[in-house]
Amino acid sequence: MSFLSNRVQSLAESATIAMAEKSRALKEEGKDIISLSLGEPDFNVPDFVKEAAKKGVDDNFSKYMPVPGYLDLREAIANKFERDNGLNYTANQIVVSTGAKQSLINVILALVNPGDEVIVPAPYWVTYYDQVRMAGGIPIVISTSIENDFKMTGSQLKEAITDKTKLMIFSNPCNPTGSSYTKEELKSIADVVAETPNFYVISDEIYEHINFVRKHESFAQFANVYDRTITVNGVSKAFAMTGYRVGYIGAPLAIAKACSKLQGQYTSGTCSIGQRAALAAVSADPLEIKFMIDAFAERRTLVFDLLKEIPGLKINKPEGAFYFFFDISSFFGKSYNGKTINTATELSLFLLDEGLIALVTGEAFGDNKCMRLSYAASESVLIEALKRIKETLAKLN
Ligand code: PLP
Repeated sequence: MSFLSNRVQSLAESATIAMAEKSRALKEEGKDIISLSLGEPDFNVPDFVKEAAKKGVDDNFSKYMPVPGYLDLREAIANKFERDNGLNYTANQIVVSTGAKQSLINVILALVNPGDEVIVPAPYWVTYYDQVRMAGGIPIVISTSIENDFKMTGSQLKEAITDKTKLMIFSNPCNPTGSSYTKEELKSIADVVAETPNFYVISDEIYEHINFVRKHESFAQFANVYDRTITVNGVSKAFAMTGYRVGYIGAPLAIAKACSKLQGQYTSGTCSIGQRAALAAVSADPLEIKFMIDAFAERRTLVFDLLKEIPGLKINKPEGAFYFFFDISSFFGKSYNGKTINTATELSLFLLDEGLIALVTGEAFGDNKCMRLSYAASESVLIEALKRIKETLAKLN
């Protein structure tokens, strides 16, 4: 019997991090690995954000701050919600945390009692599932497929609801699929939520700016679910600020207060310098980051065209984020050097060992037929990576 708690023992290691570690170990052995496994923009933080961080140091932002974040930052976030999303939140409905990851666990711990059911449409961002389990909640997975761009419908949601349902968590645009919901699609989901008492929704909109086909639509825009929605966002993806660790929520007041109470006991307020930098980021005109979005848009077209040329893959064209999530199940049952591939995980290991290319198995995201490719990499790296994928898959027969 282990001395470690059941809680920690029942947690899965993050598969994306595991893949990144395996590819790092192979690189250290001298192997020329290309990794398209991490969800991190390959750009540097914009200069105006760096300047704000430096100024924060010089202005001595070095003391403890209010647990939910500096007031000027919360006001700027409230303005951002209004400017970009048409959402009205006051500063006391905003809580700033150490990354959107902490925002998520705060809300889950604030709402979920052991035994409560939490609906997680799949493919889901891997952390949702394990955070729900950490809180003693029961993840209820709703499957979707590439044929409908991995989107859940209102009627699928309705079927999954029981008298134990408490929460639903989804990302829009979605990691890992890149799918983005239209206003009508969101409305059909909102109507089901509104008719179910005591049912809340975390709408994770951290990829809102990386959206190629339409204006981003926020879930909380519908009056019938505004009081049931916690909108999660952050600066990691849009401003390439993954290491600054700043995420935030806009939420009904009682939930915001509960999150602040919780984080007051484990992290207190987020790093002061990260918050000064985030203030510059959220206050900026979104046009400041358009160059990154344009680069992602070009890479998306490039990768789509190259993926189309690989026999055996079933692909769609994701509308947002910086991922492709494609179906590789036609390779199941095929072999190379006497070894047969039966799962997406086996295929990802085969691609790593044989093709020196790191992708993430769909099993990590609740879909065992697919694989995720992150195109947050330069065009030359992407071209070489796609060549390797094509040549390596061709070895299977
Ligand atoms: N939500 C989604 C859907 C993500 O993909 C990520 C990061 O990969 C996060 C939240 C966490 O972001 P942060 O760096 O702010 O913790």
